[in-house]
Amino acid sequence: MDMGGLETVVANSAYVSARGSIDSAAAATMRDKKYRTKLNLPHIRQCEHMKTTVDSSFDSMCVRQSIGKRLFQQYLESEPAHKNSVDLWKDIEDYNVAQENDRAKKAQKMVNKYYESSSKNFCDFLGDKAVSRVKEDYKNIRGDLFKESEKHQLLVQLEAKALNGFKDSMYFLRYVQFKWLESQPVTEDWFMDFRVLGKGGFGEVHACQMKATGKMYANKKLSKKRLKKRKGYDGAIIEKRILAKVHSRFIVTLAYAFQTKIDLCLVMTIMNGGDLRYHMYNVDEKNPGFNENRACYYMAQIICGLEHLHQHRFVYRDLKPENVLLDDIGHVRLSDLGLAVELPPGKDKTQGYAGTPGFMAPELLQKKEYDYTVDYFTLGVTLYEMVAAKGPFRCRGEQVDNNEVTRRILNDPVSYPPTFSQELKDLCEGLIEKDPEKRLGFKNNECAELKNQSFFKELNWGRLEAGMLPPPFVPDAKMVYAKDIDDVGAFSTIKGVVIDNKDNEFYNEFATGNVPIPWQEEMIETGVFGELNVWGQNGKLPNDLDP
Ligand code: ADP
Ligand code: MG
Ligand code: MG
Repeated sequence: MDMGGLETVVANSAYVSARGSIDSAAAATMRDKKYRTKLNLPHIRQCEHMKTTVDSSFDSMCVRQSIGKRLFQQYLESEPAHKNSVDLWKDIEDYNVAQENDRAKKAQKMVNKYYESSSKNFCDFLGDKAVSRVKEDYKNIRGDLFKESEKHQLLVQLEAKALNGFKDSMYFLRYVQFKWLESQPVTEDWFMDFRVLGKGGFGEVHACQMKATGKMYANKKLSKKRLKKRKGYDGAIIEKRILAKVHSRFIVTLAYAFQTKIDLCLVMTIMNGGDLRYHMYNVDEKNPGFNENRACYYMAQIICGLEHLHQHRFVYRDLKPENVLLDDIGHVRLSDLGLAVELPPGKDKTQGYAGTPGFMAPELLQKKEYDYTVDYFTLGVTLYEMVAAKGPFRCRGEQVDNNEVTRRILNDPVSYPPTFSQELKDLCEGLIEKDPEKRLGFKNNECAELKNQSFFKELNWGRLEAGMLPPPFVPDAKMVYAKDIDDVGAFSTIKGVVIDNKDNEFYNEFATGNVPIPWQEEMIETGVFGELNVWGQNGKLPNDLDP
């Protein structure tokens, strides 16, 4: 074995073993003790000033931020008047993630306990409509059975009746302590780098581990000099802003944004399973592409990711198999949002040439104004390629220049392999439709019409959206789905770029540190929250909250 090969073997084994030990329970054993002790709650005197400035809107603090929600629920449990509400809330959460075969029993119990007016735990705030709907429907095992009760009755009631009490309680002070900890700066020395996972336009992406918690992430490094030389600032800040704003299990999540002397760093969900392009062409080279069942599953997850982006007014513009990444168990997420744009409020169209040849929609190629519709064209091209193992505008192995591909996209009809089922062909045709007005896509703020296409008739969208539908393919935990270290390719050195004050201003704007929701999830998942959130004995205040 040559030395380059040996380097890969060593790097892979360190990475595989770090990865393998990180199911959250084992994370504690992988932590760096020195860094773990730096994660400590301040005394309340040190952060009291944040009481009035901290994010304390009900929806954000008590529902979306997971530490905020935990503390709010602990407060509710401590108040007899709210005990019933919090029990219902937790039972709903438990139901939502339960296995299908456990659901009927759980639903029956909940109906008896909270929905029967004769029960001592009857929740009278639920309202007649929600009560009768749940009672009619609970025998059907569905993911959204309690959605209405939760969103419209339970939470509204809690905001009106419990929010103020929470803000006066010691649980809120604890929330302020955690927000202080969350707002502390983060630097590169909090992360241990593992092997390179891939190469981007501005730098490498490495596996890394947050030392204090043991959680594995991917660190996408963007070289400051290369960014400046190639005018990458706009794309970098957009990618960062979008990633920090979206929270979906179908899009990679940003957990930290910071800078080093030479790089800007985006620390995000690690996707260990490789990209879809790799799985289509490199796993079984004699038999490329996916069967329709597998393509259907990935399509559904991609659609959920697109729907989420579009609901937040982002046009992705660069959907293609290469940008769809697999995690350890085979779920996929969208990544690489550097080409995305945001439609500002009041403006429903955008312009600009962006994307990958062979995927771009006709209206974009014709330099017309466009909106989310372009992403459904790329979705159609992606679907076609997943099954046919070639793009719809290219023959297998054919080298064509971009002008010819553009000409075909604008003018030529798509021909379908005889192996395509009718449902698949119909869906492709609805998406690779040249006229954006007629194309399937995002309508009335959702993708309902698309999800109802017969290609998806066997698919349970509720379970898929809850992350409960088992993937058709599970990546091998021992396998490294990345190129050998030597094959990743080096970057040329950048000469003649000088970093000035204005550049540094930009870097400071970029390096916003911890992203609240993922940071809080990491603390909970790795057990750090539980270790820090300690209460005094017999109702006494813990020392750090004692004024
Ligand atoms: P660029 O925007 O410069 O093209 P990408 O975001 O596509 O950069 O990242 C470059 C490569 O790094 C990807 O093709 C992929 O191989 C790898 N990569 C990127 N993000 C992740 C991630 N979250 N987990 C694992 N690998 C990743
Ligand atoms: Mg890329
Ligand atoms: Mg990019």
